[in-house]
Amino acid sequence: MALIVQKYGGSSLADAGRIKAVAARIVRTRRRGNRVVAVVSAMGDTTDDLVKLARQVTPAPGQRELDMLLTAGERISMSLLAMAIADLGGEAISYTGSQVGIITDARHNRARILEIRAERLKQALDQGKIAIVAGFQGVSLSREVTTLGRGGSDTTAVALAVALEADACEVYSDVAGVYSADPRLVPGARKLPSLSFEEMLELASSGAQVLHPRAAGLAARHRMPVRCLSSFNNDPGTHIGKARRMERVVVRGITHDKSLAMLALSGVPRGGRTATQVVAKLAEREIAIKSFFHGAPGGKRVDLFFVISEADLEPAREVMGRCLGRLKGGRLSVNRRIGSVSLVGSGVGGEAGIIARMLEALAGLRIHVEGLTSSEIKVTCFMDRGATEKAVMKLHKTFIG
Ligand code: ADP
Ligand code: ASP
Ligand code: MG
Repeated sequence: MALIVQKYGGSSLADAGRIKAVAARIVRTRRRGNRVVAVVSAMGDTTDDLVKLARQVTPAPGQRELDMLLTAGERISMSLLAMAIADLGGEAISYTGSQVGIITDARHNRARILEIRAERLKQALDQGKIAIVAGFQGVSLSREVTTLGRGGSDTTAVALAVALEADACEVYSDVAGVYSADPRLVPGARKLPSLSFEEMLELASSGAQVLHPRAAGLAARHRMPVRCLSSFNNDPGTHIGKARRMERVVVRGITHDKSLAMLALSGVPRGGRTATQVVAKLAEREIAIKSFFHGAPGGKRVDLFFVISEADLEPAREVMGRCLGRLKGGRLSVNRRIGSVSLVGSGVGGEAGIIARMLEALAGLRIHVEGLTSSEIKVTCFMDRGATEKAVMKLHKTFIG
């Protein structure tokens, strides 16, 4: 009997009708002789609505109480789904993250899973039950309820699949798999039948929302194959697993991210270890640097540029303001309209010709490239975020057709 972990996102569970449709899919999977664990997100936009509600009460909701509030969203969908399955004659039982032993560290709103004590889940499965688990939540060793950060249900699903040594992990959303670009933006985007773990990780971390980057990273680390599919049809979706192609260099996808910011420290004294200090201070606040580059306007001064997620802008500005205060001279400026566009595919970063064609295509649109980074399987250009969508469309036409 195979064990299948399925994850259903908010759009798959948006209303009672959708919940019934998902229940029917789960019951079908069970009746085919599989054991099933279903991980659920909150219904539709429930999590966004709960965040808005908290902000109406206070502009700065406390992190612990925010976790208490947001975990309620998944409780609603998990219990309704269990009821809908019972209505179809299936036997299901729903659990919160803490009930199924999803143990996290203590960082509210962005906890990491430390371990999964899955005995209770295994017992339920051994009794033939379908287990429904609330995604995106866990409990810390000091028994506080935590959340994994927005979009965290994908991570819950892959982590459970790893812990239970599942035979398959299926992530259902409103698109039939991973496409060569966001299908909502590029109507001609192509569905990719398969991707390597590494390609998926790069697509996810540069803006393809369909699988959360942490889930993609976890799958890659544990070599847990994942299939991304739609809960609205029976398309076979995209299989993410070990690389099969050898050395052929192909652009698989074009991604974009409109939620970045760039901070520039201009005219700081050369050789003052400013960059090292800024990086250390940002690390203390757990602010990830997406990219760093520096310019040398000449003389004894340099300009330092940091690209970060816009969500980290305020703490980063504070950190850099303080660093600047200790220097003789220099200026801090912020560009909060930064976005990025990336080409992803094994080998693309090692091909100078591909980078040259990318820059030519962007120049043809008169897009000013603020910075570029590349790795073996990704090339990313930073630009004004208003330009990212037309850049994706042009690059899709240039590289994919
Ligand atoms: P869920 O709520 O089920 O977790 P998400 O909204 O997080 O679903 O992810 C699905 C969305 O990801 C799609 O509606 C699609 O617009 C978007 N998306 C962005 N880039 C891609 C891509 N390359 N392939 C497929 N979907 C993508
Ligand atoms: N409901 C949570 C969110 O909207 C978790 C998830 O959907 O993955 O972020
Ligand atoms: Mg999602």
